[in-house]
Amino acid sequence: MILICKHCQKCKVNRPRGLCWSCYYTDGVKDQYPSTSKYARRGVGNGNGAAAAAPLPTAHAPGTPEKLGVLEMRARNRQALWHPLDARYPNDPRPLAALAAHELQDEVYDAAPREFAGARLAVAS
Ligand SMILES: [Zn+2]
Repeated sequence: MILICKHCQKCKVNRPRGLCWSCYYTDGVKDQYPSTSKYARRGVGNGNGAAAAAPLPTAHAPGTPEKLGVLEMRARNRQALWHPLDARYPNDPRPLAALAAHELQDEVYDAAPREFAGARLAVAS
């Protein structure tokens, strides 16, 4: 099977990203196609250093879609993924106590709508 270039649809692929030589080395073309390498950077990136701590713990239990959303938000904000007071099991009281003590402010709600929604539900119950 001969692959043809993703960009010009004419030439045989002989460069990374499924591109031909001409397209790969034409300014701006390479950037339109993501790397297909398993070693390439993906997602929001990672780091090996001290990240700023997340300002608030989350009441979402590990493994839930809501917790994954919180982790995604923290990664995007370049914050540490784990907060020491994050819930460790469903209905863990520790993050709720921390959130109540913090007296959530409006700007925190705006920055983290999903976490806020969960926090408010959890505090109300
Ligand atoms: Zn091409």
